[in-house]
Amino acid sequence: MMSEQEKQYIVKQRALGKSFVQIGRELGRCESSVRYAFRHIMDKEPKMDEIIPAMVLGAGTPTTPKCKYCGRDFEKPALGGKQLFCSAHCRNAWGNEQKRRIPYGQVCEQCGREFIAFGNPHKRFCSRKCFADSRKAAQADTCVEVRG
Ligand SMILES: [Zn+2]
Ligand SMILES: [Zn+2]
Repeated sequence: MMSEQEKQYIVKQRALGKSFVQIGRELGRCESSVRYAFRHIMDKEPKMDEIIPAMVLGAGTPTTPKCKYCGRDFEKPALGGKQLFCSAHCRNAWGNEQKRRIPYGQVCEQCGREFIAFGNPHKRFCSRKCFADSRKAAQADTCVEVRG
């Protein structure tokens, strides 16, 4: 088995343009196992192209992922695949923001006009006025019922 350190080394040396044979010689391993390990790493990390330049520049530290919501750098967990957010809070906040941006074409129950409701597929009225009017109308109905 190849150690994590050796794998990192292979990736870094490949990024620097060394051949599998060269790297293998440096690690005291045969070329095919170096090649195999490298391919294995690439399978696990499909975005290696983005990571390699940073590794070369940043002395072996892989890029710190940035939170998609707050933009803060955060520690990527050793296990658990791709993480886009620094915290559950940010993930939820981002999700809510996305939902708020979804436009829903609605028809106002009060005036019958079409309107766009952002992030709310259950919005019933185009405006506060129509909402108020509908409440008044509902109250009026109740009154009629009570009287009748
Ligand atoms: Zn965040
Ligand atoms: Zn309306």
